Amino acid sequence: MRRTIAILAVVLGVVAVAVVFYVRRPAPADDVPIPAAPSRILIVGIDGLDWSRVNRLADEGRMPNVARMRSEGSSGILHSIRPFVSPTIWTCIATGKTEEKHGISGFVVNMPDPADASPTTSNMRKVKAIWQILSAAERCVAVIGWLVTYPADVVNGYLISSHVTLALSAKREARAPNQTDDWLSEGIYPRSLWSEVADNVYHEEDVGDSIIESFIDTSVDRARQEEKVRTSSLAKFYAADMTSLTLARHFFETRPADFSAVYFRGSDITSHFFWRFMEPESWKKELSAEAIETFSPVVERYYALADSLLGEVVKLVGDDTYVVLLSDHGFAGHRGYRGFEGDVAVGIEMHREDGIIFVSGPGIKRGGSIAGASVLDVTPTVLALAGLPVARDMDGRPLTEVMSSTFLERYPVVYIDTYEVGDGPDGDLTPIESPVDEEIKEMLRSLGYID
Ligand SMILES: [Zn+2]
Repeated sequence: MRRTIAILAVVLGVVAVAVVFYVRRPAPADDVPIPAAPSRILIVGIDGLDWSRVNRLADEGRMPNVARMRSEGSSGILHSIRPFVSPTIWTCIATGKTEEKHGISGFVVNMPDPADASPTTSNMRKVKAIWQILSAAERCVAVIGWLVTYPADVVNGYLISSHVTLALSAKREARAPNQTDDWLSEGIYPRSLWSEVADNVYHEEDVGDSIIESFIDTSVDRARQEEKVRTSSLAKFYAADMTSLTLARHFFETRPADFSAVYFRGSDITSHFFWRFMEPESWKKELSAEAIETFSPVVERYYALADSLLGEVVKLVGDDTYVVLLSDHGFAGHRGYRGFEGDVAVGIEMHREDGIIFVSGPGIKRGGSIAGASVLDVTPTVLALAGLPVARDMDGRPLTEVMSSTFLERYPVVYIDTYEVGDGPDGDLTPIESPVDEEIKEMLRSLGYID
C-alpha cells in the first residue's frame, strides 16, 4: 500500500511538473529560440496574389497555410512599383534595386519589327541577384523557376530557370525540335543536373479532366465548348506550377540549401483569364450565363491551390527555416484603377499595387503586421535574416520590424557600401534568344502584355 502511494506520488509529481512546464511554456515573439548560427531561408514567390483577397480567403479557411503564417509570423502589403511588370518586379525583389539600376525593363526587348521582340534574359541584369551575393558569401543556394533567370547564373548550389520549367511542362508532342536537351540544360546550373530535372517534370498532358473540373462548376467538355483557349491555359499553367513543386520536392529534399527560392506563376495567369467571370458586373463585354457559372470559381480555387503549394514546399524545409511568402503585385479586375482599354481591364492594367509579404521563423514576431513594405525591401531583409551586411546602394531597407529584439541583439543589422565588386553581371543590352521565345511571346500576347 505504502509502495503504491509512493508510486502514485511520483506519478502525480511528474504530471504536476509537466503541467507547470506546459502552462509556463512561453508563447510569442521573443521567446522563440533563435539559432546561434544564421538559419536557413525559403522564399515562396507566387505571382499576382492580391493582399485583400488572400486575407479574406485565409479568414474563410480556404488558405490555411497562409492563415498559419499570418498568426505565427508577421505579414503586410508588399507595395509593388509601377507599371507592375512581373519580370521587372521579380528582379527588384531579387536585387533590392530599382529597374534603373538592375536593367530588366519589361517582358520583352522591342525590335523595329515587333515579331522580332525577344524576352528579357538574365545576361541583361546589371547588378547581382541575392543568389549571387549569398553564393559569394559561401552560402548554398537553390533557385527554381524564378523569372528572368535564363541563362542560368553560376551559383554555389543550383538554379533551374523559368524557361526550363515552362518548356518542360508543355505537352511533349508540342516541344519544338530546337528545344533540345542540350539547349534546355543552358537554363540549369550546373548542367550536370539536367537528367534529374527532366525526371521530375509534370507534363501538361498528364493534367486529367478531373483536375480541370476541380476548378470549375461544370464538366470539362462544356468548359472547352465555351472557352477552349482559357480551359487549355488552365491545364498548361497548372502543369508548370506542378513542375516547380515536383522539382522543389526532389531537389530541396536531396540537396537542402541555406537559401531556397521557388516561383509559381499560375495564380496570375488564371486571374487574367478568369477574373471577369468572378466579377462579371465589372466587365463591359457581355459574358454568357453559362460561362459565368462555369468559370466564376476558378480564380479563388487557384488561390487555394497556391496555398497548398505553399504548404507542400514549407514541409520540405526544417522548422528552423525562415519562410518568406510573397507576390510581386496585387490584382483587380474591376474598374476604378487606372488605364483601361475601353472600360475593360487588360494585361498589366489588371495588376495593382498591393502584393503580399508573410514572414515566419525563429525570432520573427507572431501576429505582427508590416506597414509600408516594398518589393525593394526583400533582398535587404533576406540579408539581415542571413546575418549578412545590407548594401547601402540597395534601394530597399531590411524589415527589422518583423524581427524580435532578441534576434536583433544577436544579429544587429550591419551595412557595407556595395556588393558590386569583383566579377559582376554582364548588363548586356540585348537578350539571348532561345527556342522557347515563341512560346513565351504567345503567352504574353494571350495575356495582353504585348501586341
Ligand atoms: Zn499578370
